Amino acid sequence: MDIGDRILEVQNELKNTAARLIAVSKTKPASAIEAAYQAGQRAFGENKVQELVDKYEQLPKDIEWHMIGHLQRNKVKYIAPFVHLIHGVDTIKLLREINKEGVKNNRVIPCLVQVHIALEETKFGFSQLEILDMLNSGVLDEFKNISIVGLMGMATNTTDEKQIATEFAGLQAFFEQIKSEIKHPALNLSEISMGMSGDYQIAIQNGSTMVRLGSTIFGERNYPTN
Ligand SMILES: *Cc1c(COP(=O)(O)O)cnc(C)c1O
Repeated sequence: MDIGDRILEVQNELKNTAARLIAVSKTKPASAIEAAYQAGQRAFGENKVQELVDKYEQLPKDIEWHMIGHLQRNKVKYIAPFVHLIHGVDTIKLLREINKEGVKNNRVIPCLVQVHIALEETKFGFSQLEILDMLNSGVLDEFKNISIVGLMGMATNTTDEKQIATEFAGLQAFFEQIKSEIKHPALNLSEISMGMSGDYQIAIQNGSTMVRLGSTIFGERNYPTN
């Protein structure tokens, strides 16, 4: 199977679910993205700013670019003019920087707040309590050029499917909680970005609206990225 076939296969698998595919093209050449594009895929995810910008410049302008990796504040300016969605916002300082670049570019930049749901200590993200504190603190009033459209989470890297399901279900429950309890113009909650190649079926069963798939679509990565 080639890249186009795998895109069609996953699209078909997602057809009667709430989730759509973000094809994670990090480390892959523009030609691989073009093959997916030819099969109809328009949403692509990258985790390095330089690579994202290079690919944006080379490839068709109707591609939606998703920044899925850890984002450093000093690099926000490079993607602010065109990024479709920033998945991994994990500090208020980063939100503030994205807002500032939104003002400069005269646009509202869509973001997902990253929630720490895994057992590992190393993964980025806010705790649920930190997010509630942030949302209730009034800080959102500053952010006229940001729209928080949902949450993003990464499950523990484990073969224990029950553990993964518990983590994704917890993220969905938290999403529903803040959606019903907290109203603010900068909060427009509709997306839950969860699920990677190893766990996306479990994520879909727990309400994912965006699955971020790399190796399922493009094969194993050429070099380690973290
Ligand atoms: C690389 C990456 C993915 C895709 O991983 P696969 O296991 O190849 O599907 C998804 N999300 C993030 C944040 C990533 O960095």
